[in-house]
Amino acid sequence: MKHGEVLENFNILKEMIKFDGTTSEVQAADLDWLIIRGDLLREIFEGLRAYLGRGANIAIKAPGKTSGKRFFASLLNRNMELKEIVIVLNLLINEGGWGKSEITVDYEGKKATVTLQNCITARKTRSTEPSCTFLTGYFEGFFEKLFNKETQCIETACIAKGDAVCEFQITPKNMA
Ligand SMILES: [Zn+2]
Repeated sequence: MKHGEVLENFNILKEMIKFDGTTSEVQAADLDWLIIRGDLLREIFEGLRAYLGRGANIAIKAPGKTSGKRFFASLLNRNMELKEIVIVLNLLINEGGWGKSEITVDYEGKKATVTLQNCITARKTRSTEPSCTFLTGYFEGFFEKLFNKETQCIETACIAKGDAVCEFQITPKNMA
């Protein structure tokens, strides 16, 4: 699932993202989008952690999960195959500035692994624990819809704590 191949074979991103000059909205997959600075995103998460303490993780993960589910649903509405939807997700992570991603999916076993180099929510930060809570929720929601089964996502490596990549493992919820 290399970037160049995806663009050649699908060319979806170019087709999907549209700017409407009359409403000043960027639309992709029938959702509105916004370009914001990476450091602003990180500051929002840091602020939530500073004010809410441990509760911040719930406050950050929940909208991530909703967002992942919504994105999946919006692509399914375009009559795309599951494998195409995963390719589009990979493309948008890469092209959207979230980091350089690789996604491996075991459709039978309903498991997936996402690795992100230079992840937007962890780059330029330091933490003793995996800190990409929004993305953890996002992938949990996305793959829950993809597999049509309750899933859990755990961030097993994070560049914020010195790992080479951020790694997210998605498994059925009843598995340890
Ligand atoms: Zn991370």
